[in-house]
Amino acid sequence: MKMNVSSRRVFTLAALLVAGGLAFALRAKDVPPACAPASAPAAGHADPHDAPKVSADSALKRLVEGNHRYVSAKAERPNQTSDRRVEVAKGQHPFAIVLACADSRVSPEVVFDQGLGDLFVVRLAGNVISDEVIASIEYAVAHLGSTLVVVLGHQRCGAVKAAVDTKPDDVAEGHLGSLIKKIQPAVAQVKGLPGDLLDNAIRANAELVTQQLRGTAPILSKMVAEKKIEIVAGRYDLDSGKVDFLGAAAAKVAPAEKMDSNGALIRLLKGNVRYRLGKMEHSRQTPDRRAELAAGQKPFAVVLACADSRVSPEILFDQGLGDLFVVRVAGNVLDKHALASIEYAVDHLGAQLVMVIGHQRCGAVKATVDVVSKGDHPHGNIAYLVDAIRPAVTRAKGLPGDLLDNAIKVNALLMVDEIKRSPGALADAVKENKVLVIGARYDLGTGEVQILP
Ligand SMILES: [Zn+2]
Ligand SMILES: [Zn+2]
Repeated sequence: MKMNVSSRRVFTLAALLVAGGLAFALRAKDVPPACAPASAPAAGHADPHDAPKVSADSALKRLVEGNHRYVSAKAERPNQTSDRRVEVAKGQHPFAIVLACADSRVSPEVVFDQGLGDLFVVRLAGNVISDEVIASIEYAVAHLGSTLVVVLGHQRCGAVKAAVDTKPDDVAEGHLGSLIKKIQPAVAQVKGLPGDLLDNAIRANAELVTQQLRGTAPILSKMVAEKKIEIVAGRYDLDSGKVDFLGAAAAKVAPAEKMDSNGALIRLLKGNVRYRLGKMEHSRQTPDRRAELAAGQKPFAVVLACADSRVSPEILFDQGLGDLFVVRVAGNVLDKHALASIEYAVDHLGAQLVMVIGHQRCGAVKATVDVVSKGDHPHGNIAYLVDAIRPAVTRAKGLPGDLLDNAIKVNALLMVDEIKRSPGALADAVKENKVLVIGARYDLGTGEVQILP
């Protein structure tokens, strides 16, 4: 058998995890401290008209990075020195506008790890809008050059809770009634939906306010239409400190997570370790994730697996919606439709890893072994599967060890070769090192996915 073992990359889980750790450490080092770009352009000339405009996408990225520092207890508290105070005293050009709740736990400068002159902040209980709020935002986009508006709702918001708890004929204390009235449309929108009513209402309120701002004439609606500004919604989690961007903005934040083939492989194998240890996270399986992906998918890996009910890739790699592009057919064999599917994921969706997983005691391979060694006759369409798997069984025959298990491994590796050699986009991507195609074997007993050499 010629499987060309030496040219295949041999991975061990330990080596990968170590490499992964190094890669992550390097990535963290490569990222310049976010305070640098914030303070550098402003130095010397604080006239907002001189200031280079920060695009909405870069502004969003800066907020995500700042929030990440805050969450991981690595806050840098940039731009909070007396030098910075003096510098911005002459003029401000905040890169983002944040409309947040007045809640004392939701300070935008703190949760996004920013300083003086960075954020133009409007705060009102329940992050609702009024003419004065709109005017403030208009001023910042029209005169200060801000390009991003974030409407930031937060977990357990008291104002939204008051709106949720208010019955139709309740009389609110003092001026609270008018605030509650502003939030009630969001509550009405999510009544009866699955999940927590308050949290659903908090998200709906942030998104509703975002939509209202986008449609507000004459300044905001025009600038949105001309793509001069972006208005996005977020939810701050009091427990974790993390800000999740909602709707289309979530998908924008996602490309930052785009990984190379080794990163993708590490992510799969780490997920498999969680699965084996019973420590699954089941992440990215929420209604939010679903909504976020409705606009488009960017799966990080393609998996060709058997249709066998025990070999669900999402489960054995502990991944969620939008993570894996999965092709499944008995015996994890390829036909032109399977090849086309894989090609689409690599060429159009940018997946950089293709894994072919055979599995222990595969019925399709077993049937083929029986046909080859006992002369059984396959029934009906099964003959197509047997024909596809037969070359693997023939090659495995001369190998020491268990014929079925050898055939399962050889079959996966033959499919790897076929994907790599598939003329056109796949072969090109392999040649240009844009995609890594590897074979693996899944053990039904231990749950381990082993990379095949
Ligand atoms: Zn609040
Ligand atoms: Zn199978």
